[in-house]
Amino acid sequence: MKLLKLIANLGYGSRKEVAALFRAGRVTDADGEVLYADDQVPHAAVRIDGEPLDPAPGVTIALHKPVGVTCSTRDQGRLVYDLLPPRFRLRRPVLSTVGRLDRDTSGLLLLTDDGQLLHRIISPRAQVAKVYEATLAADLRGDEGALFAAGTLLLEGEKTPLAPATLDVLGPRHVRLTLTEGRYHQVRRMFAATGNHVETLHRVAVGGLTLDGLAPGEWRVLDADDIARVF
Ligand code: URA
Repeated sequence: MKLLKLIANLGYGSRKEVAALFRAGRVTDADGEVLYADDQVPHAAVRIDGEPLDPAPGVTIALHKPVGVTCSTRDQGRLVYDLLPPRFRLRRPVLSTVGRLDRDTSGLLLLTDDGQLLHRIISPRAQVAKVYEATLAADLRGDEGALFAAGTLLLEGEKTPLAPATLDVLGPRHVRLTLTEGRYHQVRRMFAATGNHVETLHRVAVGGLTLDGLAPGEWRVLDADDIARVF
């Protein structure tokens, strides 16, 4: 792909704006040799103002979503995209969230521009575990683990029962819940079905991938080993 298109697709500006970067000699190779809009040079060899380019298409990001930001692209209020460099919102192909976490849920959120990967992770058939920790408003009744494991629980307004889920009790009002699907407000609705209420909800892992030291609001680009850990 010609450099002008490659750089515009990474969100550095419109074609006109990127053309101006070339005219100003700001696009170079690693040795500082000026590059031109029509050049076809490997992504890794290109610098803008001496800085390497943002990751090439095929990028997947792990973000520690804080409470209070939404996964939408155009909601009012703070969006998960506001936690990333502004350019990332202008990338083509677009960077989408892999499923969603509610505004009031924190934890591991993946974003990717790889549609196939996205579907592999969210498809219930892939059986990728989504692991949550929740605190509850009331003590557990004691039968929740069996109820969730049975694979028979029907949430209000739905026609298909939930797939079996695993509950680990961490305290009278503190649980870890492992799901293989991602229905709307699923964890909150599962506990509502038992007469309880989720007070805090945090996703600790997607498959074998954890937050691994990312603080709220921090993110990192995943490599092939990280992705392999998801499956
Ligand atoms: N279940 C919920 O209720 N909310 C989330 O954000 C994720 C799972």
